[in-house]
Amino acid sequence: MYLCNMNFQEFKNISDSFPHTVQMPVLFVGHGSPMNAIEENSFTKEWVKLRYALPKPNAILCISAHWLSRGTFVTAMDKPKTIHDFYGFPKALEMVQYNAPGSPALADLVVDSSKEANVGKDESEWGLDHGSWSVLKHIYPDADVPVVELSIDYTKDLQWHYDFAKELSALRRRGILIVGSGNIVHNLRMISWSMPNGGFDWALGANTILTDLIKKDDAKSLINYQKLDSAVQYAVPTPDHYIPMLYAMALRDGNEPVSFFNEQTVMGSISMTSFLLGGAQ
Ligand code: ZN
Repeated sequence: MYLCNMNFQEFKNISDSFPHTVQMPVLFVGHGSPMNAIEENSFTKEWVKLRYALPKPNAILCISAHWLSRGTFVTAMDKPKTIHDFYGFPKALEMVQYNAPGSPALADLVVDSSKEANVGKDESEWGLDHGSWSVLKHIYPDADVPVVELSIDYTKDLQWHYDFAKELSALRRRGILIVGSGNIVHNLRMISWSMPNGGFDWALGANTILTDLIKKDDAKSLINYQKLDSAVQYAVPTPDHYIPMLYAMALRDGNEPVSFFNEQTVMGSISMTSFLLGGAQ
């Protein structure tokens, strides 16, 4: 199927770079505060465990809540820069560099996998934002797995994103670990500094509703979240941190097992709920 848009040499290069493998799991991570990048806490401890639970990928494709664009783009540079896309945080966080290589070959594979989107290759502008590196720094601290980011086209509706994400499913059998990085409950306007380890009733309620829909694989309800309970409307005031979860759900293969972790709500209005689809090793 990849032959349609590429010549034989390109096809051979991709086959050499990404030979067929067993199906890789898919990860959705609630990334929360950028400070998780430099802290050791209950969330980052779970991220470290993934290093040993996951088969070592050939490369990572990350859909980060923090790369919103008009049109869909994929990072295609050899050395993506570390983007510090936040303000007012400690110097130690500003100093973090996550020097994982990029993968122009994976960028090509994403471009050629897609019929829904005319994916553009970004060879100089973006890089890795904290949606990817704040988490990957804990899973792969040696930065020895190539990482490619895929942008979220903010002009498209959620059904479009779900359909587009399905086109990426063959990457799972090329040793690619697909990671959605966002937060299913994420309302920065409602953050409460007096609730570092707790959540408002509506946040806890929305987390339960959304988690149940994920367990039931109820994609239709997840896509049409604006028809759900008012608690969910507080939880998802804008869809940027929610959409990466939909990418993961779209990649679920039949009755593949889903295992949740980090199911806590912090700062009143952010849920760290995360899940892994498919078997860990
Ligand atoms: Zn974020």
